[in-house]
Amino acid sequence: MVKGNADRRRELARQRCEHQRNESARKALGPEFATPSEARARILSDVKALSVDAVPYGWIVADGNEDKSFCEEFFRTGACPLRRCKHAHDVTISDLIGVPHGVATCSGPDAAAPGALPAMQRLPLCEIDAGGRMVYSRHLRRAVRQDPVLKFVDLEGRLVFDAANPSVFASHCARTAEVLAMQRASSAAATAGKEIQKRDSDAGRTDANDVFEPDLEDSGVSLI
Ligand SMILES: [Zn+2]
Repeated sequence: MVKGNADRRRELARQRCEHQRNESARKALGPEFATPSEARARILSDVKALSVDAVPYGWIVADGNEDKSFCEEFFRTGACPLRRCKHAHDVTISDLIGVPHGVATCSGPDAAAPGALPAMQRLPLCEIDAGGRMVYSRHLRRAVRQDPVLKFVDLEGRLVFDAANPSVFASHCARTAEVLAMQRASSAAATAGKEIQKRDSDAGRTDANDVFEPDLEDSGVSLI
């Protein structure tokens, strides 16, 4: 039976609702389930909140296919056991803190080959687009997620996002939350301290006035 337009519209609305529900459920699951674009936004806002001077850098899939794909083993560890590895051994993040070891090779749709990462370039995080945006597909008649291009983020010598290892971003979030809580506690203590000081000095001033004014009058300075 051919479905009428009303049925089709109902079905599309149902799919949209389901998609939105799934998205909210995913967001509620926490940082381990964040998309690269959410991670990017969070890292940029953390840098501001923490007043970090360092610039976070993102590694994004390079434009065009002319670049040789990166050897994942070499990129992560700085060494490659293969004698005749055909992937590029030019760049490594092995000197960063927090690079997970013993990681299964990235096998996303954009992995150039087993054991390879797509050729990437490192740019300031604020200047790049993480990709993975929801775009409206005319064909499916609903929003679908594009492939994200952001694969890694480093900040102050530490890996803070690794698309293939959600725990890297989750531990960044936990660490940041801890630092922010400490900062808030110490600034609250400082404010409380200032208030006590202010109260004391106000009280002091009042006392001083109370004490010195009568003194001046009694001292006979104004009396001739
Ligand atoms: Zn290699």
